[in-house]
Amino acid sequence: MKESTRNFNGFIHSLIESLPYGIMVLDHDDRIQELNRNFSFIFNINIADVKGKNYKDVIESKFVDVFSNLIEDTKVKGFVMDRQISVPILGGVEITIALSGSALKDKDNNFYGLTIICREMTATRELERMRELDKLKSDFISSVSHDLKTPLTSIIGYTDILMQLAKEKSLSEESDYLKIIMQEAMRFARMIDDIINMAKIESGKLQLKKELASLKEIVEEVIKIVIVQAEKFKFIVNFDNSIPLISIDKVQMKRVFLNLVSNAIKYSPQGGEIRIDGYTKGDNVYVDVIDHGIGMSEEALSHMFEKFYRVESDATKGITGTGLGLAITKGIIEAHGGTIVVRSKLGEGSTFSVIFPLTMKKII
Ligand code: ADP
Repeated sequence: MKESTRNFNGFIHSLIESLPYGIMVLDHDDRIQELNRNFSFIFNINIADVKGKNYKDVIESKFVDVFSNLIEDTKVKGFVMDRQISVPILGGVEITIALSGSALKDKDNNFYGLTIICREMTATRELERMRELDKLKSDFISSVSHDLKTPLTSIIGYTDILMQLAKEKSLSEESDYLKIIMQEAMRFARMIDDIINMAKIESGKLQLKKELASLKEIVEEVIKIVIVQAEKFKFIVNFDNSIPLISIDKVQMKRVFLNLVSNAIKYSPQGGEIRIDGYTKGDNVYVDVIDHGIGMSEEALSHMFEKFYRVESDATKGITGTGLGLAITKGIIEAHGGTIVVRSKLGEGSTFSVIFPLTMKKII
């Protein structure tokens, strides 16, 4: 054998040994030409002196049928993909193996052998199972949440009627109780909405109805909503005229700024100034929501956008919430192609910056 041929065969042999798959190469008479360590480990074969033997004399009898079917099909079709079987390995643990066969043909299309490749599928299957479970969980949460909303809508509707009746009859004590029922029912409704929205974002079902819109107008609408219950605050909205209209879903974007401005109010119990600055910098549009409230520690900042994360401290005692607002906010912004970053100092306040690329000037 020529030196170069020997080197080449050595290279092929090392390559086959180093691949993370089990590999067996047969000649046209079903005799083994190569069988790597992974293959011998999976099928419990003694690798010494297998070369030249018929595969049926080497493979455990319980697998002979599986292999002969695969080999015959490969000879007929030229290629067989991922035929799955269970194989017990050390300690009796079963693993799932995908077997594929590929015929070897020369340039004149003459068959001269075939390769069998086996891949361990247990990790892949586990990942698929986890994805399925996660989807089931999201579907379950979303269907339960929808079911909860129906009776809640009735509770809110009838409480509203009772509140009017109590007012007409000047029943002040009853009015006070009904007001509490209403507030709590509304809080419950907001929690359900948050859960439904989070499930939509996670399952990729959030559908954006994009149109060219003004971020400033959205922020101003949000301020009009919150201002009624925020007497202790001064709102300053300062947008550069250079900001173009950008392609966004107005309803979802309103939710983003409602969350951020409501948080700025909620986490600034002493009141004060809340600024919303809009400007362009480099290739991006920025909207900063700035408060001078309780702020956050470095540790809290690193978890801020995680689902259900809430800071537990003396400063946040008595402030209610689901811990979903910022996760939803981030999900909506990212679905638009933007990002959100936060700077904060404990006791000094926080700045949440919503950033969109200027390329969003067009509806894409
Ligand atoms: P929620 O307000 O319902 O708890 P969020 O997801 O909106 O949930 O916020 C997560 C946590 O981040 C809050 O519980 C709070 O501890 C902290 N946080 C959010 N916004 C601010 C802010 N502007 N200032 C200080 N802490 C904040």
